[in-house]
Amino acid sequence: MTAEQQRQFEEIQKLPFHKKVAVNPKTVNNHIEKLLDELNVDFEPEIIPVRVESDAKPKSCYYNVENKITRDGGKIFYGWVIWQSNYLCEAEHHAVWENKEGELVCITPRDVHYNEIMFVPDNDRTYNGVSISNVVLNISGNTIIDDFIKIRYLVCKLYEFGRRKNVDSVIVPKCVSDAITECDIASGALEVFFLLGNKPVSPCYCRSSKSYRQCHGKDIDTKLAHCLNAVKQIIAEHS
Ligand SMILES: [Zn+2]
Repeated sequence: MTAEQQRQFEEIQKLPFHKKVAVNPKTVNNHIEKLLDELNVDFEPEIIPVRVESDAKPKSCYYNVENKITRDGGKIFYGWVIWQSNYLCEAEHHAVWENKEGELVCITPRDVHYNEIMFVPDNDRTYNGVSISNVVLNISGNTIIDDFIKIRYLVCKLYEFGRRKNVDSVIVPKCVSDAITECDIASGALEVFFLLGNKPVSPCYCRSSKSYRQCHGKDIDTKLAHCLNAVKQIIAEHS
């Protein structure tokens, strides 16, 4: 991290909690309606309890549920967890456990614990070893967040080049992990830039004399497509 990034990072740390962290919605609002349209699911979202299983691991919901079924029976339910912050509304692909009483329960731990989550079942999209991208809507009205989302989508795409080795690790080729690191830095800088109140016409975060839109925010689609194609080419050459 450069000194400038460090300084921006510290400024973000001072922001109120709700500006940084996704909240866990309790009712379906307009943004969530739009997200559900995008997901095109047949079910209604429901609020389900989180009861973390003692041997369950974070980010391993598919395996956690399979282990639970081996031990206690029941069924796996695929679907989406709905999250919302004040600039993003997001669906994260997820698996939960259905117990013998037909109750859906999330058994996977998270960094921040919630007693309940909003979950919408979607058994059309099941997990088969390849990561499934989150579906994200910009609800800020600021196009900086569109760019942020585009970079995060590219990261999801890049992870699709990885193959899961076991519960804990995904093998990702070096060119892919390098591209992911670059994207993480870029999206991190962009999120900080947005949270500090900047608009596309604000001076770019790199402190050039240009506006963001004429500097790092210029031709984002082309830059991202170029990054993805470069990775695809390297992988094709090595396979
Ligand atoms: Zn710039």
